[in-house]
This record gives sequence, structure tokens and C-alpha cells, in this order.
Amino acid sequence: MSNNISHKGLLIILSGPSGAGKGVIYNSVIERMPNIKKSISVTTRAPRPHEIDGIHYHFINIGKYREMIANNEFLETASVYKNFYGTPKAPVFEMLENGDDVMFEIDVLGTKQIKEKYPESIAIFIMTPSFKVLEQRLRGRNTETEDSIKTRLGNAKHELKEYKLYDYFVINDDIDEAIDNVMSIIKAEKLRIEKNEDLINKMLEEMR
Ligand code: 5GP
Repeated sequence: MSNNISHKGLLIILSGPSGAGKGVIYNSVIERMPNIKKSISVTTRAPRPHEIDGIHYHFINIGKYREMIANNEFLETASVYKNFYGTPKAPVFEMLENGDDVMFEIDVLGTKQIKEKYPESIAIFIMTPSFKVLEQRLRGRNTETEDSIKTRLGNAKHELKEYKLYDYFVINDDIDEAIDNVMSIIKAEKLRIEKNEDLINKMLEEMR
């Protein structure tokens, strides 16, 4: 499958460390902006108790994952915390061809791959006001072991160092403000001149 599709829809990437609140932001934006569709990732990790196959992820085994790699079915793929994650190409292309925007909640490695293929994609990094606050939020969840907190904090530093891959930096201090900021970015991106050329040319045609 080629990566050279023509599309007017936006590819919007949300990344950020676990604990920064990107999941909540992602779901709220999807809920409030009906033209933005979710990209459902594939993962080899086991589902968490509340997670539903086909809604949160497509949960697959390593054999099937390898098969998908061999068939070149991924737009991007990465290993995060010893599990594999990937974005299947076909549904993304279909959504873009239907004129929808697509939003991805993926890590820095995945962002790098999508940005290489689609430099026009919009990458947003979500972060807490500081590492201290990130640590407090991870501890406050009461779901992580000490080891897991350390791993996640180390990983967060690693991810933030890749900030140059991103176009926007949104601090999640107040969640409603962070959601508004992400929505404002998307709205402004949709108003860009190059995204409206067809409409402009149509107006010019009508004036002839
Ligand atoms: P979790 O296992 O907590 O749902 O996700 C762990 C990490 O994997 C998060 O940082 C999330 O953004 C990232 N992730 C989820 N899906 C994908 C994907 O399809 N590709 C990549 N590269 N990362 C993903």
C-alpha cells in the first residue's frame, strides 16, 4: 500500500508521558469534534480490566503482529514498555479519503515515523507543568509500582528530549484549558490557507 495518498484531512498526533492526561484530552476532543476520528491501534499487550477489544485497542498476539509487519500493514509501529503497538494503515487512509481528520495517541517513536511520511501532520506534546507534578500524578494513581513509576519518569524525560519533532506544546495544568488548547490548535490548523485552497478557487471561479 502506498503512503502517497492525497488528503485534505488532518493527521493529528497526541503524545506525552503517561500521567500527563493525554488519554482524557484525546477522548474529550474526539467527543467534541465529530469530524475527528479515532485511530484504533493494535497492541500485543494484555487488555486492562475496563478495556474492550476494538474500542480501546485491537488486542492481538505476537504471531498476528508479525504477520501484519510482514504484510506492511502498519503506518508506524513501536515497542513501548516491552509490548508492541502499531497503527494500521487501511482504516486511516479510509478516514482521510472520506474527508475526516484522524487523531493518533502514540509515542515519540511512532510520531517520528508518521512525521517522516507526512511532514504536514500536526504533532502535539502534552506535558504536566513540571516533572515533579508528573511524579505526583503517577503516585496519586495508586496503580503503579515504584519500579513502574521510575520507568515512566525516565521514559518521560526521554520523550521530552525529542520535543523538536512536535509542533505544539500543551501543558495540562487545568484539564479543561488543556482540552480547549488542543481544540484551538486543530481549529486554527483547519483554517490554514493551504487547507482552504479548493474553497478559495471555487469562489474565484464564481466571480469570473
Ligand atoms: P498504554 O499501554 O498505556 O495504553 O500505552 C502505552 C504507550 O503506548 C502510550 O504512550 C501510548 O501513547 C503508546 N501507544 C499506544 N498506541 C500506539 C501506537 O499505535 N503506536 C505507537 N507508536 N505508540 C502507541
